[in-house]
Amino acid sequence: MMVMMCAAKELSLGDVFSVCPLVPLDLHQTIWQGFITVHGEDYQLRLELPSTRKLQNARLFGEWKLNHHLERYKHVIMQRLQSAKDLATFLLELQTLLERTMSKSDVTSTSAQTVSPALYTKLISEIEDIGWDRLSSIDASFESLQFSAVDGLGKIHYITINLNSQYPDAVPACSVSLPTPFELQWSSKGKLKDILQQFQVTLEKHKVFWQSMSEIDNQTWVLEPDKPMPSDSIRRIALGNNSSLQVTVDPLHPGMLPECRFLGADHVVKPLKEKLHSNLHLWDTDCSILTNLQKVLQVEFPSPSSTQKQELSEECGICYTYRLESAIPDQACDNPQCNKPFHQACLYEFTSTLPSSHQTMSKYGFNTTYGECPYCNQPITVKKMDT
Ligand SMILES: [Zn+2]
Ligand SMILES: [Zn+2]
Repeated sequence: MMVMMCAAKELSLGDVFSVCPLVPLDLHQTIWQGFITVHGEDYQLRLELPSTRKLQNARLFGEWKLNHHLERYKHVIMQRLQSAKDLATFLLELQTLLERTMSKSDVTSTSAQTVSPALYTKLISEIEDIGWDRLSSIDASFESLQFSAVDGLGKIHYITINLNSQYPDAVPACSVSLPTPFELQWSSKGKLKDILQQFQVTLEKHKVFWQSMSEIDNQTWVLEPDKPMPSDSIRRIALGNNSSLQVTVDPLHPGMLPECRFLGADHVVKPLKEKLHSNLHLWDTDCSILTNLQKVLQVEFPSPSSTQKQELSEECGICYTYRLESAIPDQACDNPQCNKPFHQACLYEFTSTLPSSHQTMSKYGFNTTYGECPYCNQPITVKKMDT
């Protein structure tokens, strides 16, 4: 039996169960019993909490084989348990630790042996230096660590650091969601904390970019991407009338005019293209992208406060779905009375099977098919853009 001293938050049954099959035996969730899996083997575990359900003074009972290891590595265990923020984190830490420390004969995965005990201890102290609350996940072999960081706008970002046995001599591989590549400056004296500091600096660098993008996300209907990631610098903004504007923003110069591509029927997008062309001088690099677009195009974009998304995401007139694989209907009949939207692929296939259709390759490299709208029989063109 060991006595734990850690500050803890409320318990989440789902979170706990996702770490190991431990279930509360009473309504108040003060006694938990079940198993903890180490190297594919299940060990009985029972955890008793005080009536406050906080982890302070929690008592942990394991079967003898488990207790033997808990005792042997007590100093490291205590070190790690001091800062466990909830039961799930606590169990994850315990499991990770047991995976690392239990006898080599039990080790089935070779990757679990890559990190030596000395490196393991070094990593523990480096994580402590950063703060356990910043560690959002860690794999059993201690090779992949994910940390969180908060940007100047209060948004949480994640960085996954992949280490190998040569750490810190070898440059750790980092995986992040950023609109520009994350170039880590590294020396063999480097620490995990240095990586997080550089990540934080990079987050600040993109503050204006994210500010501009989130204004678009909050105040317009973004048709694509469905769920924008911090790395996404493209937005397809609904314009209404089955048309949209796709902007590609330069993350390093978010104040500059983005690359604009209009999608939809010519009678809707042509006047907008002309306005963009003639009002370019109004673009003010000190203003946000949305403010500039509204000023230059002289439009109010349909917004969540004034429109339902369903009104702007009409299904394709040929296949009757909205999303076809990843594509959304981005072509529309140019007859203002019809204005039916179609997927490019659907319309291309439909028109190319018509006996009256013909194709041309324009000087711009577009493969264009001419045919008739399946609804109003007006001439319709499909531009097959090489992307
Ligand atoms: Zn379709
Ligand atoms: Zn039509």
